[in-house]
Amino acid sequence: MLKAIKSVFGNRCPKCGKGKVYKDKNILFSLKTPKMNDECSACHNKFIKEPGFFIGAMYVSYGLGVAEALITYFIASQFFDKSLDLRIIPVIVIVMILLTFFNIKLSRLIWIYMFRSIK
Ligand SMILES: [Zn+2]
Repeated sequence: MLKAIKSVFGNRCPKCGKGKVYKDKNILFSLKTPKMNDECSACHNKFIKEPGFFIGAMYVSYGLGVAEALITYFIASQFFDKSLDLRIIPVIVIVMILLTFFNIKLSRLIWIYMFRSIK
């Protein structure tokens, strides 16, 4: 499990752990549109299993977004007097917008790893 998490953040192929999934080196903290390799350079494992494969990654992205919003809420609520202060909402929205590209890339990587045993 720890190895899989390390491989997800390391942008590694789910089958062999050597090839890269995304073409960019720094995939998690860049503001570029994600460009994926079609297959692994080491083992030729295809990352896109079928057309529309990454539509399911939206659910992963949604989960990541909710988790990030909750974490942002709990951190931001420490700086406000009331726990349900409406000024927290713009803070959450700004954090969610800043993490959009991070979520797109990470959710696709997680989605690929969820289906790594299916050939
Ligand atoms: Zn591979």
